[in-house]
Amino acid sequence: MNRRQFLTSVGASAAGMAVARVPPRTGVPRAAGSGLPAAPPRKHWAWLRGEFTTADAWQRKLATIKAAGIEAVLYTANPDFYHAHAAAAERAGLELHAWMFTMMRGENAAAHPDWYAVSRDGVSTAVKPPYVDYYKFMCPSREDVRGYLAGLVREVAQTDGLAGVHLDYIRYPDVILPVALWPKYNLVQDKEYPSFDFCYCDVCCARFARESGVDPRKMPDPTADVAWRQFRYDRISEVVSLLADVAHAHGKLITAAVFPTPAIARALVRQDWTTWPLDAVLPMTYHAFYKQDVAWIERAVREGVRGLGARRPLYSGLYTPDLPPADLERAVGYAIAGGANGISIFEANGLTPDQWSALASALAARTAR
Ligand SMILES: [Zn+2]
Repeated sequence: MNRRQFLTSVGASAAGMAVARVPPRTGVPRAAGSGLPAAPPRKHWAWLRGEFTTADAWQRKLATIKAAGIEAVLYTANPDFYHAHAAAAERAGLELHAWMFTMMRGENAAAHPDWYAVSRDGVSTAVKPPYVDYYKFMCPSREDVRGYLAGLVREVAQTDGLAGVHLDYIRYPDVILPVALWPKYNLVQDKEYPSFDFCYCDVCCARFARESGVDPRKMPDPTADVAWRQFRYDRISEVVSLLADVAHAHGKLITAAVFPTPAIARALVRQDWTTWPLDAVLPMTYHAFYKQDVAWIERAVREGVRGLGARRPLYSGLYTPDLPPADLERAVGYAIAGGANGISIFEANGLTPDQWSALASALAARTAR
């Protein structure tokens, strides 16, 4: 792949909406001798953006993160960076995970416009993306797209010292945006509207027609068709399974940033994440995006934990621009009370000194418990 294009394509982040060599592990570890599932270990994470042009700057940032009580860093960079600097993270006692954009990648739009998702009104994201110009989502049904993504995961997964691969934008475009964003785009999304509803490309429609006997483009109301909805959950889930196999084959963990609850994730972006074969999920429990108070984080986490059925750990993503220090401490408490195995902050380059200190205090209190 073109690494410069990769760097360009990661300018916007979903998790901001957007190291030890760890053996692959799926599901919940077993307590020695008991035969019963052991509780997954408490762990705290941070999404990290920004360029680190010197090894010294990178090490200083890692030290700040580690000092706050965080153990895993999700960082987006080109593969060369991971090769050169994963060892420093390992020495700092941090897991480094390669944070990658998955379905939303514009770098193939010119060469392979047919790889891109098509809306119900027939418009490709390669030509006219919904909402913003970088919203170029690929179609999860296409073998070429799957092969391309598997190649990206394979490339970074060969890095010594890298702990895992972290999938972001592993979904369709938002058929409905989080409610707090409606005014920003001057929209009222009280139902699924055609220009935000994907994917109606020839490959998707032909496969669904083979399986069900009907072309979604000929349905009077495709938004009401349960099988068509499930078909799209399954296409994203297949991509997750494929990429999980690639990561695990190279001894890496695989995780994903997902929408905050199983119900919201299915409704807004067609993520059926409780079924995904990941080592952990990191729901973006960003309360203000849904016009909720901080206490909602506990309810959202509880729904996710219940949906996963203790099969794998859940770490609650916290959107720090909406969490002044006192609220950040409360948010950590709500996440743990809801059953999260830890938290993940978005993002580690954006915290004020007061937020760092509140975070360190909240995490120390939870670890000492
Ligand atoms: Zn398609």
